[in-house]
Parts: sequence; structure tokens; C-alpha cells
Amino acid sequence: MDKLRFYNTLSRKKEDFAPIAPPTVTMYSCGPTVYNYAHIGNLRTYVFMDELRRTLKFAGYTTKSVMNITDVGHLTSDGDEGEDKMQTAAKKQNKSPEEIASFYSSVFFKDLDRLHILLPEIISKATDNIQDMIEFVKTLCDLGYGYETDDGIYFDISKFKDYGKLSRCSIEDALAGARVAVNTQKRHPADFALWKKAEKNHIMQWQSPWGMGYPGWHIECSTMSKKFLGERFDIHTGGVDHIPIHHENEIAQSEALEGHKVVNLWMHGEFMLVDGGKMSKSLGNVYTIDDLISKGYSPLAFRYFCLNTHYRNKLNFTFDGLAGAATAYNRLRTAISSCENAPNADAQTAAAVQKQKTTVIAAVYDDLNYPLALGELWTMAKLPACKQIFDAAKELDALLGLDLHLPLEQKADDIPDEVKEIAERRFAARKNKDWATSDALRAELDKLGYTILDGKDSYDIKKK
Ligand code: AMP
Ligand code: ZN
Repeated sequence: MDKLRFYNTLSRKKEDFAPIAPPTVTMYSCGPTVYNYAHIGNLRTYVFMDELRRTLKFAGYTTKSVMNITDVGHLTSDGDEGEDKMQTAAKKQNKSPEEIASFYSSVFFKDLDRLHILLPEIISKATDNIQDMIEFVKTLCDLGYGYETDDGIYFDISKFKDYGKLSRCSIEDALAGARVAVNTQKRHPADFALWKKAEKNHIMQWQSPWGMGYPGWHIECSTMSKKFLGERFDIHTGGVDHIPIHHENEIAQSEALEGHKVVNLWMHGEFMLVDGGKMSKSLGNVYTIDDLISKGYSPLAFRYFCLNTHYRNKLNFTFDGLAGAATAYNRLRTAISSCENAPNADAQTAAAVQKQKTTVIAAVYDDLNYPLALGELWTMAKLPACKQIFDAAKELDALLGLDLHLPLEQKADDIPDEVKEIAERRFAARKNKDWATSDALRAELDKLGYTILDGKDSYDIKKK
């Protein structure tokens, strides 16, 4: 296994990576709450997870990764109040929470696929692990960390002396910072819910020792990581927003239960901003991958855009920035893929290609420095065209997932849904010999920048 270094949020230092039981690396990544489409910020965090998993594999490790799908328990406000996000979405759309979860999960997996994000080995829904969560909460109560109030079971943070070690806030800070509790039965305002008792009209509820109810959001990750990875594991990932509450609470629950440290390496992806600020529905700047595709950008251009900023730096999304990344990506891909049929390099160029390949790998092994790796790849692409460049890029694709060695051709996936839908209608019109409609739809596609190439019983869509 090659030597790797990663930045640990817990120690605030870059550390040599030493897994518990090599060659296996055990890893847990907080997954999406599937009540809505994932936005490009969420997806940036999964691109970061993918950079890490690809790097581990490339270095010779076998990954055992878990990602949860939150389909219950994530409330609309921190502080264990408000409605379950799944329930709110279900009511709004007049669907069951299961239908909501299944719809948005499938869109999420489609997004991962389009971004070439490799799937974790184990993916599990919160609702498939409720009994394990109940057991976890029961044990915390037996150990004296959990206590019951009229509306649920809470974790007493004053009993866990290390509370705040990840965000480096003391218990006093946490207590002072917590909002005044609405629930006056909590021992401390910053105590958090392990289990909530359900009101009659709550859609999702399960039988428990404390009556009908549903799990808190944090307990889900502690339970699932223990169930699938055991009492100690190597890496835990998520976005930086999770450091102060969600991950702090996970540490409190897991370490209180086990009586020892559970996660060795905590890694966090920085946030994506849009036009320099927060993404928010009211500003109309919450974009999805489909929004980018409908504006003519390929998912891999967005992936390139993400890789080009280090995961520990904020990434400001603008359409100008994305357009620049798309141009650079297309140029790099054209330069590299066109080397497939180039002649073999002379000895000096071959050595230069080899050196660049080693430098790309070294950059990535040093805390996932993908921006530096892309820079080194550009240097390689500018060497005299030769087959060695193509071979090196093809091998490096296991790290990059950018298809740089493949010719830039219009793949079905890169064509916006809107365009596909018009093309389908045109195909139907043509079959019905409705030439007027067919011509009108062709003109519509033309306006959107697409041409149709008709076959006998099929068609092809090409970007002009
Ligand atoms: P959620 O579905 O809200 O639990 O979020 C899924 C993941 O996206 C979590 O790991 C969050 O930390 C992350 N996330 C949320 N907003 C952003 C953002 N603007 N930029 C990067 N990551 C984000
Ligand atoms: Zn989590």
C-alpha cells in the first residue's frame, strides 16, 4: 500500500494514514436526507467522498464504505424541534414518506452516476435500522447517558466529558450557545434527542420501550456505523456544517456506548457558495445537476470544476466559473484523448510523461490535492503528443473519474432531459407521418442548439 497523508479535523493536522486493519479501510459517510433534489453543494461533498475512496483504492487499499440514506428523523430545525423533513415533503406533495424517499433517492443515485461518483459498498436506509437504533438508545439509558422526558429520550451532554472535542467548543460553550429550550424538561438546553415520542398524527412511528416514536437524526449514523463497521473504524466524512452538532453528537453517543474512541480520522468537505453567498431557495440560487445540464454543461465539467478546488477550501460557484471549467475540461480531454493514435514517445518525452504521472499521484496522496494534480496533468498534456500520454491518463482515470482519455462526443447522458423529451415527441410525430409537427419540433431543437440525425427506425441527437 502506498503512503497517504490526510488532514484530520480532530487533530487539526495532516497525519500519516494508518488504517486499523490494512488492506481494508473502513469508512462512513453521512448520506443525503432524501426529501428534495440534491443541490450542487451537496454533490460537491459526495465528489469529495469519491476523491477519497478512489485515492484509497488506487493506493492499494480495499474500501469498506457505508453511506446512510436519511429517510426519517431529520427535523426542520436544529434543536430537536420542528417537523420531520420527510413528513413535510410528503404532506406538501400529497405522497407517502416512502414515495418521497424512493423518488429522491433514485434521482440522487442518478446524479452520483452522472458525476462518476463510485457507490459505497454498503448503502442503508435509516428506516431499515430502527430496531438497532432502539437498542443503542436503550444501552445509553442503561449507562446513564440517556434520560426520558415527556416528549422523548435525550442525551445528557454534561455526562460526556469530551463533548465538543471535534469543534473545540467546551461544554460550557455548547450550553451557552444553545437556544433557550422550548422543552423545559431537558436537563441542559444543548442536550439532544435520541428518540422522539410521536404525536398521533406523525406519519412515521415505531413501537419502542417508550411508546410509539421515531429516532433522532444523530443516532442513525452512530447506530449504522457500529452495525456495519464495528466499534472502531478508520474514517468518517461529511460536510463542514456537520462538525459542531451532528458529528459532535455522533461522537458523544458512540464513545459513551463503547467507552473508547471510535473514529480515528474525521474528514470534512468545505462548503460550496453560489455567487459568493449561501444557497437559498428565496434567492433562487439552489441549482441541481439537471439545471446545469439544461444550460448545456456536462456533469463531468462540473466534476472538473469541483476537483479544481481543494476539498478544504470554499468553492464559489458562478456560471462564469463553470463555463471556464467546461472549456478547460474540453480542451484537456481533447488534447489527451487525441493521443490514442499518436506515435510512441522518444526516450526523453517518455521519461517526462512518467515523471508527470508520478507527480499527479503524489499530489493526490498528499491530502487529496486534486487542483495540483490537474495542473500537473495539464503539463503532461502539453508535452509532444504521444501514446504514452494517453496510456498514463487512462491509468490515472481511476483517480480522476473524468474520462479524459475518451474522445469528447455527445453522450446520451449529456443531453438535457428537455431536449430528449422534444426529440421523443418528434420521433412519435414522424412515425405517425405528422410532418408538420415533426418539422416544428425539429425547429424547436434547432433553437436549443441540437440537430436530429434520423435513422430508419431510430434517431441520434447531436449538439451543433
Ligand atoms: P443533507 O442532505 O442536508 O444531510 O446534506 C448532505 C450533505 O451535503 C452533507 O454532508 C452536508 O454537509 C453537505 N452540504 C450541505 N450543503 C452544502 C454546501 N453548500 N456545500 C457543500 N456541502 C454541503
Ligand atoms: Zn451522519
